[in-house]
Amino acid sequence: DFIPHSDIVISRSCIPKTIDRLAREVGLLSDEVELYGKTKAKVQLSIMERLKSQPDGKYVVVTGITPTPLGEGKSTTTIGLVQAMGAHMKLNVFACVRQPSQGPTFGIKGGAAGGGYSQVIPMEEFNLHLTGDIHAITAANNLVAAAIDARMFHEFTQSDKALYNRLVPLSGGERKFSSVQINRLKKLGIDKTDPSTLTDDELSRFSRLDIDPASITWQRVLDTNDRFLRKITIGQSPTEKGYTREAQFDITVASEIMAVLALTSSLKDMRQRLAKMVVATSRSGEPITTEDLGVSGALTVLMKDAIKPNLMQTLEGTPVFVHAGPFANIAHGNSSILADKIALKLVGPDGFVVTEAGFGADIGMEKFFNIKCRYSGLRPHVVVLVATVRALKMHGGGPTVAAGMPLPKEYIEENLELLKNGCSNMRKQIENAKHFGVPVVVAVNAFKTDTEAELDLICNMAKAAGAFDAVHCSHWAEGGAGAVALGQAVQKASEAPSNFKFLYDLDLSIADKIRIIAQKIYGADDIELLPEAQRKVELYTKQGFGKLPICMAKTHLSLSHEADKKGVPTGFVLPIRDIRASVGAGFLYPLVGTMPTIPGLPTRPCFYDIDLDPETEQVNGLF
Ligand code: ADP
Repeated sequence: DFIPHSDIVISRSCIPKTIDRLAREVGLLSDEVELYGKTKAKVQLSIMERLKSQPDGKYVVVTGITPTPLGEGKSTTTIGLVQAMGAHMKLNVFACVRQPSQGPTFGIKGGAAGGGYSQVIPMEEFNLHLTGDIHAITAANNLVAAAIDARMFHEFTQSDKALYNRLVPLSGGERKFSSVQINRLKKLGIDKTDPSTLTDDELSRFSRLDIDPASITWQRVLDTNDRFLRKITIGQSPTEKGYTREAQFDITVASEIMAVLALTSSLKDMRQRLAKMVVATSRSGEPITTEDLGVSGALTVLMKDAIKPNLMQTLEGTPVFVHAGPFANIAHGNSSILADKIALKLVGPDGFVVTEAGFGADIGMEKFFNIKCRYSGLRPHVVVLVATVRALKMHGGGPTVAAGMPLPKEYIEENLELLKNGCSNMRKQIENAKHFGVPVVVAVNAFKTDTEAELDLICNMAKAAGAFDAVHCSHWAEGGAGAVALGQAVQKASEAPSNFKFLYDLDLSIADKIRIIAQKIYGADDIELLPEAQRKVELYTKQGFGKLPICMAKTHLSLSHEADKKGVPTGFVLPIRDIRASVGAGFLYPLVGTMPTIPGLPTRPCFYDIDLDPETEQVNGLF
């Protein structure tokens, strides 16, 4: 099973069908499809209306054991599984995956189109600009950032009257409020629509947002791993009259607008979410929203195409939606609700939609259930938990490995002892999935150095831990043919009774919700709210955001808050340093330790290998 080819060589060796043909095959009408070249298309949301009475297909979520630098192959397994079920078992299928950020593509991790003979193609299109959704988010996010600083600058340099005259200008001798401004008046409790009736006090309250600069939580974003933007000073040109402040850039996929895109259910809902985003607090303690800045309509305009899911295909010609890609640590790490919903209609009641949740089951899957499913109303039928021999050996005490370094012998020779120890992590993640009442199928993603005894050991331990089934698969080396056993197990599990339930009730206090996740999913003894987190609990409860679901921002490399604690850490108290609110997306995110929000480039980044052949226009070196 030795594969001499790189991912891009395999990807290119397959001629994709034209995307309009694929669109027809999956039941899309030509006026529901917007072509972006020959291999990508956007699907219009009007399809939801046309298919509203069509019953949904079965819904499968792919997750994994706690990740290690060795890579577990969740994306590869997602694609291998749909290739097996679609091309070999002849079922209607759809894969729904996230669009990768260009930061890691040029940085350290590489792409996210799967690997070997289980990939989304063309992988260079998938990994690079796609149809520009991430660029649209960058544009929208930075418009908000510009609006905040410009507004503070104008308030800083103008009197109340001058501000008001510019905000509500004379037109044909008359002043008129825009609809956004009438909303702002309502929020201030001023029940007036005629500008000439405003008192001086009302005029001042209306004109000044009075943003407290120390409270600004909205950052600029860029989809590049540019570490020197982690902390910057803005406003240094003399034109800003000394109005400088410290700010930072995050990676675009960490933007709240990305989380909104992933969680929205319609254009109207997106407009509402884009208006509710809280960017700061006023000096009197009121939340300041994008609607207060008057920018939410413009944001919706910038995002009007990004909201449509992108259709692509696998190496075996089965359909894939690539849509949204929120960071899995500070955001919820799942692809879009809209793509899943449309795919479930398109496959019909006997078909399967396989969607992937980022990182391990303690992070991506927990957020998939408690946040994504809560907003979508969808109920999954099966959890597929991906495990590998080598990663479980690391959890069992195997040496740590840096990316790109040769693997120590523990990982290439049979070692049942280490593997058995490490299965504790898989057992805990199976339990985590079972908290939600959904059957779990363990997929052991086989590498060429794994032995039969090792693969069998994992399957036996998984079944003993309560998995519905556990199989090993070789889709990386063999494509869909290598995952037929997995496909059959998933099909069987989807018929088993499932008893879905959320882990916590939204009405609980913020601290109680965090504690339930920490104790039940991470295995913590308790949580400790540090002073800033305590202050935010009080602020958000007072501001009326206490009923939102929780999106933990924790390292993905351990079940605990310490990345180097492998296996199943016990006897720890989870420290909550701070809590932030993504009110538009609809969650609170407690920060467990410090999370980098824009990665950096390593000494030898992936871009060293990337080049274009000017004769053939082929992209070389993308993995
Ligand atoms: P994840 O989604 O868990 O981050 P990916 O599916 O992106 O992991 O896979 C990570 C890397 O490992 C990819 O480069 C992929 O080609 C490689 N890979 C996955 N499965 C296998 C396998 N069975 N054998 C060899 N390489 C694999």
